[in-house]
Amino acid sequence: MSPKRFIIPVFIPHLGCHNDCVFCNQRKISGELKPATAKTVKAAVEEALKKIPEDRPAELAFYGGSFTAIPEHEQTELLEAAQPFIESGRVGEIRLSTRPDAVDLHCLERLKSYGVKTIELGAQSMDEGVLKASGRGHTAADTECASRLIKEHGFNLILQMMTGLPGDTEEKAMETVRKLASLSPDGVRVYPTVILRDTALYNLWKAGRYREHTVEDAVRLGAKLYEIFTGAGIPVIRFGLNPSDELSGGEAAGGAYHPALGELVRSEFYLNLARELISTSKHGGEIVLGVNRGCVSLMTGQKRRNINALMQEFNLKSVIVRETELPAGKFVIILQ
Ligand code: SF4
Repeated sequence: MSPKRFIIPVFIPHLGCHNDCVFCNQRKISGELKPATAKTVKAAVEEALKKIPEDRPAELAFYGGSFTAIPEHEQTELLEAAQPFIESGRVGEIRLSTRPDAVDLHCLERLKSYGVKTIELGAQSMDEGVLKASGRGHTAADTECASRLIKEHGFNLILQMMTGLPGDTEEKAMETVRKLASLSPDGVRVYPTVILRDTALYNLWKAGRYREHTVEDAVRLGAKLYEIFTGAGIPVIRFGLNPSDELSGGEAAGGAYHPALGELVRSEFYLNLARELISTSKHGGEIVLGVNRGCVSLMTGQKRRNINALMQEFNLKSVIVRETELPAGKFVIILQ
């Protein structure tokens, strides 16, 4: 197994973006007000490297904004600031995120020459109506085209998807999952919609023109998406916005913000799997579920939520969860 990679994040809030997605306030998401410069990059990397062992690879990540939509000379400034660390071997590679309509052959060749290995695309939805209602300013075809170019040029591709956007439905979300999975990304991040203050979405919500995507909605739908992506061998590397003091302190006015959203989603996924197994098995009311090492709490659920649900739904006398060795691709089994 390769050693854990350390990520050095540099946020570029709103830099390079001329769009106004209804849900977006990058400054609030990143908790950062000033745009990144060569100085910011150098300082962030130097500071982070003090805490990273010399023999461990580090990855510089430009998050937020739309990197490849920044004027070329500004992209170059940021990427060049990283070069001394790449040359010294302390930073192994660079990743960045951008918009699907800001990717072309010219920019991919330039990114490659500076050591960029991974590109994250904010696809959000593959439904044209949802993209339009959310003010995304790009089409599903842009996402397909950019994804192909990125893969053909040997980059790792990470696709970002959102649930609960204006006009979205469960059916449209499932269709988006299928279309994104067909682009063979190396991973996905799923961001259920959070209503941030000072956004167009907040105003729509307050005016009663947007129905909130609650934490419960996000968890229920998220477990289904998780099943499809993992079933296709595509890792879900993030579920929900990174918790921050700003978001927890009230900037997240509504929607699917929960500091442990990913855990809730995976726990729901385990609950669904256990439901399927129990409903098709013969048992005397006492069930022992086997899960992989480290997964007992996911199966059990917060405050034994999953155990209680299973006992009630199937009228069971007891449900015990045990660690066991499972074959690849299996998450839960019933132990005899
Ligand atoms: S494209 Fe990205 S940075 Fe620009 S407004 Fe939309 S979400 Fe925000």
